[in-house]
Amino acid sequence: MATAIIMPKAGMAMEEGTVVKWLKAEGDSVQQGEPLLEILTDKVNMEIEAQVSGTLIRILKQEGEVVPVTQVIGYIGAAGESAPQGAATAQPTTPAPQSAPAVQPHAGAAILAEAAAEGKAEPQSGQAAPAVQPPAAHTSAPDSDLFDVAVIGGGPAGYVAAIKAAQLGGKVALVEKDIVGGTCLNRGCIPTKTYLKNAEVIDTIRRADQRGILLGSTDFKLDMEKIISVKNGVVKTLTGGVSGLLKSYGVRTYKGVGRITKDKKVSVDGKELIAAKKIVLAGGSKPSRLNIPGMESSLVLTSDEILDLKEVPAELAVIGGGVIGIEMATVFGAYGSKVTIIEMESRLVPFMDKEISAEMEKYAKEKGFRVMTSAKLEKIEETGGKLKIITDKGELQADKALLSVGRVADLEALGDIEFALERGKIKVNDRMETSVEGIYAAGDITGRLMLAHAAFKMGEVAAANAMGRNEKANLAYTPSCVYTMPEVGSVGLTEEAAAAKYEISVGRYLFGANGRALASGEKSGFVKVIIDKKYGEILGVHIVGPAAAETVNEAAALMSTEITAHEVSEIIHGHPTFSEAFMEAVADSLKKSIHKPKAD
Ligand code: FAD
Repeated sequence: MATAIIMPKAGMAMEEGTVVKWLKAEGDSVQQGEPLLEILTDKVNMEIEAQVSGTLIRILKQEGEVVPVTQVIGYIGAAGESAPQGAATAQPTTPAPQSAPAVQPHAGAAILAEAAAEGKAEPQSGQAAPAVQPPAAHTSAPDSDLFDVAVIGGGPAGYVAAIKAAQLGGKVALVEKDIVGGTCLNRGCIPTKTYLKNAEVIDTIRRADQRGILLGSTDFKLDMEKIISVKNGVVKTLTGGVSGLLKSYGVRTYKGVGRITKDKKVSVDGKELIAAKKIVLAGGSKPSRLNIPGMESSLVLTSDEILDLKEVPAELAVIGGGVIGIEMATVFGAYGSKVTIIEMESRLVPFMDKEISAEMEKYAKEKGFRVMTSAKLEKIEETGGKLKIITDKGELQADKALLSVGRVADLEALGDIEFALERGKIKVNDRMETSVEGIYAAGDITGRLMLAHAAFKMGEVAAANAMGRNEKANLAYTPSCVYTMPEVGSVGLTEEAAAAKYEISVGRYLFGANGRALASGEKSGFVKVIIDKKYGEILGVHIVGPAAAETVNEAAALMSTEITAHEVSEIIHGHPTFSEAFMEAVADSLKKSIHKPKAD
């Protein structure tokens, strides 16, 4: 006999839920405890697990439909069995008693729901799952409703803008064509950092014997299915968290492609129309492609595809030695690929301080990567399942190539209105206003700083101004990090840029003289601090070394208060900590570091 799947009552206040996504199709066999579908409650996304094993014989409620709790949404039965009569009309059969639900919400999801209810579900770094509100045809609220702010794009800029506008009392709509959380959560910051942790684990295993920890063998195998599923699990937790946050703030989320119409409304998939007093464009960016013969080969991947690669390429060519290129080289190098980095400029991470580039080149060589700088890619040829990569500096073979040469703005949202652009990105002022009145832009789409935390700030400022405030986004003290081993953290001006404007003094401190770094066996790298000699203003801080991505936040926080180097050198730092090296480098810029030998 068929078992009903019902919309569960997952909280005291829950009266209805939305079917977000069926994870099984009609006819699929299901095992007890296996996730069947995702639903959206009044607070959060959650997975519904099968209570019995069998075949999913009927789906009654489709994605996007809102269903009262306890109503039947499908049936599990034996293969070939028919659903109970009346099922085809999508009407509920007698609701199953709540004490014996046919399905149960996933425990983890239930916990998340509670956290959101108590306001504890914090947004994680740059993070996204579709907080899919039903399309117009299924909603009770008419689409003619006027919103205060409509946001197009649910990445770090867009979801933060939506939450901020709601915090300021706005009625907010958010349109997302894919999964909220954007590049950062789904294809960027978070998946790459999950993989980089794997690289760190591998490195730790390999170096354990240096500390007298003998593992017997440092041979290991990679289970790529598991590696990908761990990464997807992290992504899902965070995207679900963002979904819950949006829901908790009452943001109405639409799934589809948002476009601005001539009369400044937002169309969703060319159908529904959202009317809003103000619009925030936060469509983000997508990987750049080079106009070079052979680029279309399926063996040439972008960061979007490489993160789901199930086989580790024996030879990987990384085209572009910027942050993404070096991070992915680190990951696949640790997984076992022979890596070559091809960079057109004369140094790796060319936008960073020259000493960081030099340290990155040293790092790449230590990891066994071949580095080709000042090398211009001319052509890619694919023969017999292999790539021949031809540059003006010579050729190489590879099984796969990663194209990491930058990102372009995703302008799909622009629709019928013309905006002033700057090098292909939407031009904005510090208030995040575009050239079109009432329309703001934030995040990667503006090309200002293509970083998640910069997108957060721009999103907040755009939303605040859309809600009638007068705020500016000051991105001068935005840290940039590279999550290599050791990692990099940089904020403010490079030495070159600072020297062009100020009379400077440069302080340095090596991690080789830092107690915690030595104790941790992570002694390579340095902290470099650049100050203005006249007033002691800290102009730039560049760190390569352990916890650099954390310590640089201290530097950024202090710099944004316009504190002087004299004052920073007096701040007591915990001992032993990596960040003591920052304080010593600041003191060195004043020639008063206690833990450096007396200068001649
Ligand atoms: P996005 O995150 O791109 O989000 C835009 C969203 O808008 C997307 O969800 C998209 O589907 C949606 N959208 C676009 N057009 C429409 C439309 N017309 N209708 C509806 N929806 C639309 N940054 C860091 O700070 N730290 C890192 O460690 C880091 N690592 C990265 C690693 C990689 C591999 C990559 C690719 C990027 C990384 N970044 C990192 C950069 C970071 O991901 C971006 O700066 C950030 O995601 C930008 O946020 P955004 O909201 O502007 O755009």
